[in-house]
Amino acid sequence: MSSSDAHVVIIGAGHAGGTAAALLRQYGFAGPITLVGEEPIPPYQRPPLSKAWLKGEADADSLALKPLEFYAENNIDFRPNLKAVKLARSDKIVTLSDGATLTYDFLILATGARAIKLPVEGADLKGLLELRTAADAEALKATLGPGKRLAIVGGGYIGLEAAASARSLGAEAVVLERETRLLARVACETLSTFFQGRHEAHGVRFELGASVVGFEGRDGHVTGVKLADGRTIACDAALIGVGAAPNDEIAKDAGLDCARGIVVDLEARTSDPSIFAIGDVAHRPMPIYDRMFRMESVPNALEQAKQAASAITGRPAPAGETPWQWSDQYDLKLQIAGYAFDADEILLRGDPATGKFAIFHLKGDLVQSVEAINSPPEFMMGRQLIGARRPVNKAKLADTTVSMKEVAA
Ligand SMILES: Cc1cc2nc3c(=O)[nH]c(=O)nc-3n(C[C@H](O)[C@H](O)[C@H](O)COP(=O)(O)OP(=O)(O)OC[C@H]3O[C@@H](n4cnc5c(N)ncnc54)[C@H](O)[C@@H]3O)c2cc1C
Repeated sequence: MSSSDAHVVIIGAGHAGGTAAALLRQYGFAGPITLVGEEPIPPYQRPPLSKAWLKGEADADSLALKPLEFYAENNIDFRPNLKAVKLARSDKIVTLSDGATLTYDFLILATGARAIKLPVEGADLKGLLELRTAADAEALKATLGPGKRLAIVGGGYIGLEAAASARSLGAEAVVLERETRLLARVACETLSTFFQGRHEAHGVRFELGASVVGFEGRDGHVTGVKLADGRTIACDAALIGVGAAPNDEIAKDAGLDCARGIVVDLEARTSDPSIFAIGDVAHRPMPIYDRMFRMESVPNALEQAKQAASAITGRPAPAGETPWQWSDQYDLKLQIAGYAFDADEILLRGDPATGKFAIFHLKGDLVQSVEAINSPPEFMMGRQLIGARRPVNKAKLADTTVSMKEVAA
């Protein structure tokens, strides 16, 4: 199929879908592109939603990946407010929520992930919020301000970022976490302790080992979070940030291979050669770790958009990238490269008390991942070391008098 007459349909107008549409044009794809999105606005960045946007430091225009005109100017048929509800692979047809159908030559599934709901009593009360979309962020922002009390269920990155934003707006914030430490699924204990201390210094309260069993309300609005130990934590609103699940239902129903997300190869191709899956919804290979998993990060969305657009336009697959992500809380910039799979040693470089340090996770003398706080060289060089799979001198790595350039040399 020549790229001039093929029709590419992209389902999901988020970071990955919007980027794939733009890259297809950048790579010279001349055929029709239809970009279908459930949300009312063109593709936008989600990271500011828990950070600058909540604090009123970003507006809708600064969130957008491209201005609305870009899509018409580039002959991309952007269709907002529409959901793909069915995929018939034998006929290459997608059915949309308004009953319309689209016939594709190539289909890109970029449907992202959705916030997991808590199946507990009172979960339908008003004032129970999640944070995934611009509309969610708007609703959350409206609940924050001096004297307001926000309960945050889940001590992960999004919950902690929301807590920091809430405090900077003068609201009270209490984080309720089931595990006995923050960030338990994604970070080591040193980092958990560090973040807890910084948040406490800013007035955030923590209830660790706290299992939420329900919500209390008055006149249909939440007034408190009920814990398994019998206590109720009073609040004016509660943000549920307990993780996300992939929007892979239409792929599953259509018989595509799925694991924890839609299974793809290094070209982002699914088990059906004319269908690609990219971004948060994809369960993808990561050769440096010799395993497959699903990632929720902007760099991953961008990399996979590149993979799919390259495959469709006949370009060679882009070189593999070392995964990375970031989180901003107060004056702390956390940059994370890699994943600590199979790590057998944790090495600290710098002193957490200074607010500037890095934690390296090693497997033997290979760096698996690095968590760098306000330490860009550690992040950048650490990322290089992870990608290169080159043994590192641990004594030098732990010694802050040796530059990261020298460590990585
Ligand atoms: C609050 C927040 C903060 C974040 N902060 C960071 C950060 O600091 N750093 C970082 O790297 N990452 C961060 N992330 C993660 C990052 O935003 C995601 O990894 C990225 O948006 C994934 O892009 P995506 O296109 O796969 O999914 P999304 O951007 O979620 O887009 C998917 C789109 O598909 C639509 N959709 C779903 N199903 C259908 C359907 N059937 N039909 C039509 N449309 C559909 C959805 O409505 C959505 O608009 C953050 C995420 C959130 C929510």
